[in-house]
Amino acid sequence: MSNTENGDQAFRKTDLLGRQPEMTYGGALSFLRRRYSRELDGVDVAVSGVPYDGAVTYRPGARLGPRAMRAASVQLAELKAFPFGFDPFDTLAVVDYGDCFVDPHHPETIVEAVEAHITTLLNAGVFPLTLGGDHFIAYPILRAIAAQHGPVALIHFDAHPDTWDDDGERLDHGSMFLRAKTEGLIDISRSCQVGIRTYNDSDHGFDILSAPWVHRHGVDATIAAIRERVGPGKVYLTFDIDCLDPAFAPGTGTPVAGGLSSAQALDIVRGLDGLDLVGADVVEVSPAYDVSEITAIAAATIAHDILCLLALKKGAVAKPVGRLR
Ligand code: MN
Ligand code: MN
Repeated sequence: MSNTENGDQAFRKTDLLGRQPEMTYGGALSFLRRRYSRELDGVDVAVSGVPYDGAVTYRPGARLGPRAMRAASVQLAELKAFPFGFDPFDTLAVVDYGDCFVDPHHPETIVEAVEAHITTLLNAGVFPLTLGGDHFIAYPILRAIAAQHGPVALIHFDAHPDTWDDDGERLDHGSMFLRAKTEGLIDISRSCQVGIRTYNDSDHGFDILSAPWVHRHGVDATIAAIRERVGPGKVYLTFDIDCLDPAFAPGTGTPVAGGLSSAQALDIVRGLDGLDLVGADVVEVSPAYDVSEITAIAAATIAHDILCLLALKKGAVAKPVGRLR
């Protein structure tokens, strides 16, 4: 039996929609087996990596995060999406755009390189879904997003508020959201942080849904609080994988005890349907500290579920099976 059409969709796929059979364990890797392409005509979403980790404060290694998330996405590329019951790629045209070229030996070029990378996607009307890299990459991404859309609401999943003060020039993955606020990139009155469990002297205007609050009040209250806070306007979603407890995400740069489970995080993300998302990222996966791909699988699933939210918005119809709520 001939199977010449199957496999290696990363470079062989001809249509933007749909998918073909793959050997889960074989073939060329891309995110969710989407075709690698820099052609943006007709594309809804470009998944791309930003393999930069020069802004970390503790463990390095998130430069290998995009590679790990692509590898961990293979099983998610096989079946219809759970719990939605659809193939997001029947509706949504998604390519793997490859990686933003960054030169870590010229750190002064990083902000400009990432901002230009995202601007290219936005100018083509394409939704940027970015795989980090350390969390600093969200700062140049937000510069590009705000240039296109004006100040957006930020939904920020993290153990850390990333609003510690800096001198305005540091490449630091712990200060860029205060800078984003100061520079008017985000609408702080509509922004919130989820899973926080490290201390800063001020909330800087964010609504902080701390990890203890999420544990005490549960997933439904968290979803309701996020939705009420961000309202109907444009939203950027940034997911630092250390929002998850080290038990669920050991492979990250600055792990903190007491975090969300992957089940809680996925439930919350899946509850954000209908929001006006204009971009998203999943960052801080550091595979050298990972075990059995625990962290990379969680991160890839979060990115996959963000794509499902976009598919729903474009008209995909959920057909869940079994009891969910
Ligand atoms: Mn962070
Ligand atoms: Mn963090």
